[in-house]
Order: sequence, then C-alpha cells, then structure tokens
Amino acid sequence: MYRFSSVYQSPKGSPIRALYKHLSEPGMISFAGGYPDPQLFDVQGLGAASERAFANSKACLEYGPTEGTSGLKEALVQLMQQRGVHTRPENLIVTTGSQQAFDLVLRVLVEKGDSVFVEQPTYSTNIQAVQAHQAQLTAVPVTAEGMDVQALAHMLESASAQGKTPKLLYTIPNFSNPSGATLSLERRMRLLQLAVQYQVVLVEDDPYGGLRFAGEAVPSLMALASQVPGAQNWVVHMSSLSKIVAPGLRVGWAVAPEEILKRCSVAKQSADVGSSPWIQGIAAEYLASGRLDTHLAHICAAYGAKCRALAQGLRQELGDAIRFHEPSGGMFVWARLTGDITAAELLTHAIARGVMFVPGAGFQADGTDDFTLRLSFASPTLEEVAQGCKRLGEAMAAARAAKNKQAQPA
Ligand code: PMP
Repeated sequence: MYRFSSVYQSPKGSPIRALYKHLSEPGMISFAGGYPDPQLFDVQGLGAASERAFANSKACLEYGPTEGTSGLKEALVQLMQQRGVHTRPENLIVTTGSQQAFDLVLRVLVEKGDSVFVEQPTYSTNIQAVQAHQAQLTAVPVTAEGMDVQALAHMLESASAQGKTPKLLYTIPNFSNPSGATLSLERRMRLLQLAVQYQVVLVEDDPYGGLRFAGEAVPSLMALASQVPGAQNWVVHMSSLSKIVAPGLRVGWAVAPEEILKRCSVAKQSADVGSSPWIQGIAAEYLASGRLDTHLAHICAAYGAKCRALAQGLRQELGDAIRFHEPSGGMFVWARLTGDITAAELLTHAIARGVMFVPGAGFQADGTDDFTLRLSFASPTLEEVAQGCKRLGEAMAAARAAKNKQAQPA
C-alpha cells in the first residue's frame, strides 16, 4: 500500500493529545493539558489590537517576510531587552509558535544518527520532534534545581571520547514542562561553559519564564552568555506568546546567532512561507499597547493561587502517597507516587471519577517511569482544583482496593 517514510510508519503521537477524547466528558476536571486559563485571556486588549492591525488591511492581508514582520520583530526585540537579552531584529525570527522554532533548528542542525541531549523528563512533543529527525537521544537527569550539570559534564566527556559529542542540547530552564524545575544560576553558568568547551548548541526553550509567581527571576542562558567567553555563539533562545498572551495566536520566536538564523529562515520558507502577517500585526499592536505588564501581573497572581491550591489539595487528599516540589512559576507540578500503584492505574480510576492528568512515561526520552505524573493547575478554577484533588484521593483509594482484590487468592 502506501510507502510511508520510516519515521511515520507507526508514529506514536502525543501522550497528551491521546487523552483529549476524555476532555469533553461532562464534568471532567483536567489537570492534563498545558492550556492557559481562557478566563484569563485579555480579550478586550486583543480585540482592540486586532482592530488596529486590520486598519492596515493591505499589509496584513498580503504575504509578509519569512522571518517575520518588522513591526513584530521590533516589539519582540524590546520584550527580549526587558528580559535582559540585547539583540537585534536580524537575530530574531518569528515562528508559528515556539514549536516551529525547534523544528527549524533541528532541520538546520540535525541529521540522521546525530546525537542530541535532552533533559529527563522533558516536553514530550520535542522528544517526538527529535525522533522525527532520526537523531540519537540521550537523557540527562534533572534534579529539583533543573538539569544535573555535573552528570552532564561526565556524559559529555565520555561522549566526546567516543567521537559522539552531541550537536545540540535541548533545555527548558524555567519552570520546565513537565518537571516545574528552574535551573539555578550556578548551573546555568556551568552549562554555558560546557557548551563552549564541547561546541554544543544549547537550545533554551523558555515559554514559561514570564509566569513567575514566587521567588526571584534567574537570567536566561542567552542573557548570561555575554559573561562566558564564546558562549554567545552557542545559544539559541526560543520563546512564545502562547502562555503569556494566548496560544491561539501561534506566535513564537527564536533568537540565534546569524549563521543559524539565516538557515532557519530558508527552512521556514518551505515549511510555511511565513507566519501570518495579520496575526503578527495583532501581536505587535498588543505589545505596543503596553498592556502586557499589567496582564502578566494579573495572570501570575491567578496561577500562583491555583498552584498553591493544587499543592494543598494533593497533600490533603493523597498525603504520603504522593511526593512533589511546589514550583515558583509556570503551569506544572511534577509528582511521584510512592506506593505500588502506577500512574497509568491511577489514571484509569481517575478518569472514571471525572479527573485527568498525564502519566509521566511520555516525558521520558529513554526508559519508562511508571510512577510519575504531570498535573497542570493552569486551566481549572480554584474550586475545580480542590474538587479534582478530592477525586484523585478517591481514585487512589479505588486503585488500591482493586490491587488488593487482585492480590487475594480466588
Ligand atoms: N516548549 C514547551 C516546553 C512547551 O510546553 C510548549 C507548549 N506546550 C511549547 C514549546 C510549544 O508552544 P507554542 O508552540 O505554543 O509556542
């Protein structure tokens, strides 16, 4: 029949999207997706930005430059400046979500058999993206302070001794999806030194950095790169408006060394010619309106309250059966079940009781971990968070009862 490419002969697809069919079940409370709370969208501000963008209908309905419209690029350069990164429009490409930015970077750097290092656990879709390029994935462990750079140093040493130095290392240093961990400043500096020493492109994925609700911000790898000789050549920074404004815009971007960026631009030509100038106009108008800072303060407070409610609910309803670190931002709590019930077993009972989460196995680049799970506190209301935790407690009791029954002799 069809002669599919080897990568797509039996593709697995996203473990999160596989749960979507349950989302529409009446009364379902979802801790599963990494979806922003739709109640928190700045609908008024975006509506006004949309009208202003359309006032220039000739420009926004025509094809635009592949790397992005000059208006949005300027606005994003300014946003990066606020985040401590000094860059120029020539070093920035607008992409269809930051998802596309990663795809472009992989296209221009990675070939079949190349080595790519990722954190473990990491964002499942980008495990798939690397696999689609037929690269060899190696998992670097993560602790509560983010990537274990000590372990990484040993792994790089041995990889380079075997002539298999990775071309690229993918990291989510702020409030990682799924671990919620933030890489410490010390570890960031060490990571940059290692990138220079081994000549590895560090791909810094930062869609969540703007969503800090506790503690002090840590500068991005790209901001710190100026302090480590040579490091500016080795960092690609990707970010997005998805989590801080709205994912429906599909506006992301990458800041990268010129040599990498110009190739990404060529790769984008064949991917989609260019991101929508209309939407870019809206995004540029929104950023120019100056509403983002107030909006961010508002959503960070809301997400912080939901995160605390989830942490409290999990402690109350599951007690010692679950262990987790409370994150200081982002959208996710990464947790470990301490008993003999696996996350998949718990999920079956949870769905039957109207609550969902994502088992951790899909976030592992190698091997499986049956006892971890990711819970997002972003989209449910505070009441739903509390109710969802209650249902999880009941699901755990039911899972234990089912296991005990199985264990008993007939
Ligand atoms: N990176 C990470 C870590 C994510 O969690 C997501 C979205 N869930 C993305 C990239 C892609 O985001 P977008 O394409 O919407 O910018």
